[in-house]
Amino acid sequence: MNESGPVLAIEGVHKRFGEHPVLRGIDLDVAKHEVVVLIGASGSGKSTLLKTVNLLEQVDDGRILLAGDDITDPRADADAVRARIGVVFQHYNLFPHLNAIDNVTLADRKVFGTPRAEAERKGRALLERIGLSDKAGEYPDRLSGGQQQRVAIARAIATDPELLLLDEITSALDPQLVGEVLDLVRELKDAGSTIVMATHEMSFARAVADRVVYLKDGVIIESGPPEQIFAHPEREETREFLRRLH
Ligand code: ADP
Ligand code: MG
Repeated sequence: MNESGPVLAIEGVHKRFGEHPVLRGIDLDVAKHEVVVLIGASGSGKSTLLKTVNLLEQVDDGRILLAGDDITDPRADADAVRARIGVVFQHYNLFPHLNAIDNVTLADRKVFGTPRAEAERKGRALLERIGLSDKAGEYPDRLSGGQQQRVAIARAIATDPELLLLDEITSALDPQLVGEVLDLVRELKDAGSTIVMATHEMSFARAVADRVVYLKDGVIIESGPPEQIFAHPEREETREFLRRLH
């Protein structure tokens, strides 16, 4: 573990599915407290990149370091690595048979062995923080999509992960529910979380990202502060991508 270096270092990562190269030499460092937003067309490799970090996909070449530890080393313990990373996806994040508080506290109890009373105290504080303290006993199907995603975020941060990966977490939501979820992400940033997030919400990326990374066909075309990417993109591909959004 290296306290002074980047939280995440992706070095020369390649990934192909069969003959199809999906990540073609990705290099990306993420500093502590940094919010990096991945943008790019559907199929550009955003989810695959996040999955390689969470060891849901194996890299074919290159390596990934989490706080200096090579997590792509075949000897790395995948469960131990995943315990250090919080993840929220677009869909199906919550365990449907567990109520909100049990969803939030499960990993803390099962993976970290935190006693139930202590895990629940933390869990209730988290539900309070996300404005859902009155929903502790509700099952996911009784929560709105926005509430479910907020609980999923609470669950992801319940174990104080070093890194948070958020993959299109608002894409399945009705438009009026997107704001409450993005507001929570903004709060996490303000509280110092280190986040890598794939999103189509460009106004959010512009407002909240420390750095925006534009991915095309498995290659980082351009990366920089939001002002650069959105107002003064240096690459023609980036300009073209942004033009197509309008
Ligand atoms: P994004 O998240 O940017 O939309 P993905 O990482 O999901 O992109 O997908 C990148 C490419 O990899 C796409 O062409 C997709 O079809 C392909 N792909 C993703 N996962 C698999 C898989 N498990 N098997 C085969 N192809 C995949
Ligand atoms: Mg995706």
